[in-house]
Amino acid sequence: MLIVLAAAAFCSDFAAPTVDIQAMKRKAAESGAAVQGAAVQRPRVMSGSVDMTDFLTLLEDMTLDTTVLRGLLGQISVSFRPPTNEANAEYGWILNHLYLPDSLRDPKTGGVRYNLNSSEISTVIHELTHAAEDLLASGSAPAGSPAYEHHQALAMLASQVRDGAWAAHKPRTKANELASYYMGRAVADVADALDALRIYNARLGGGGTLVSDEEQARRLGGHILLFDQKPVGARPGGDAPQTWKDMQHRMLGHADVINAAQLGGRDIGVEPAAEIKGRLFQNALGLKPPLSVRELVDRLNDPQRRSPGIDALRQEALEARLKSARSAVPASR
Ligand SMILES: [Zn+2]
Repeated sequence: MLIVLAAAAFCSDFAAPTVDIQAMKRKAAESGAAVQGAAVQRPRVMSGSVDMTDFLTLLEDMTLDTTVLRGLLGQISVSFRPPTNEANAEYGWILNHLYLPDSLRDPKTGGVRYNLNSSEISTVIHELTHAAEDLLASGSAPAGSPAYEHHQALAMLASQVRDGAWAAHKPRTKANELASYYMGRAVADVADALDALRIYNARLGGGGTLVSDEEQARRLGGHILLFDQKPVGARPGGDAPQTWKDMQHRMLGHADVINAAQLGGRDIGVEPAAEIKGRLFQNALGLKPPLSVRELVDRLNDPQRRSPGIDALRQEALEARLKSARSAVPASR
């Protein structure tokens, strides 16, 4: 039931360019606030005394569905607590109370910050998954429903744990812990993929440096390119590194937890089977996540899909392209 907020858990497997992701997220949040202000105001989502709206917006900006989460947040109450020697994030199933570390609090809103890094997103999702294990997963739900599939995945995982070497003790508790670690990491992977796309489109090849003229930049607009794609007639030479090109084939929902998931300070030492991961990813929390980076890109380019962060991402890419095009052809004076 406990997770200690891991420091520096963000490990990217691509060469990390030196850009200020937090500043870009801040910009997206500010731009998002402006868009929200102009559009129909959605009601703030409070859970207990904590405003969870910005966290839900963050997930929607990652193209995730928050319908189930909104319902879940109505069944629990959230509060912050200051860092202690003990774990500072915890879901207490007796009172349906979710504790989050104070470091996730936005002093301006009093709620959870919009600009969480992927490790912090993992922490919140981990605890919300515990709440969903407790309150939503159900063996008596209709077969095929997310609640039923979540329950089945946990049962399969408990049986996998039971068959493990030392793990036979408390298989259900360990299964729940593994599932929460897995969900936290799997959703964090979506956040990391989105960050990589943002950097590529707003700063590197897909966004700016390859665009050779303003007309081309305008034609491309805010269309989000995968790492292998570059604009037609692009400037030669500025190709994406191979590690980034590999991202185009990357599947989501395959996060490993064998070296992360702990119970009572000990590694559980079990890696959930791929089939179990698939069921969890698609059902627990009802997020309807993209199953690949390619699908994430398709969603980001779907004109029907609007959210403050997605709008900001498209705008950022367009601005970077225009700026690059202008610098490519010196203006004649
Ligand atoms: Zn836990």
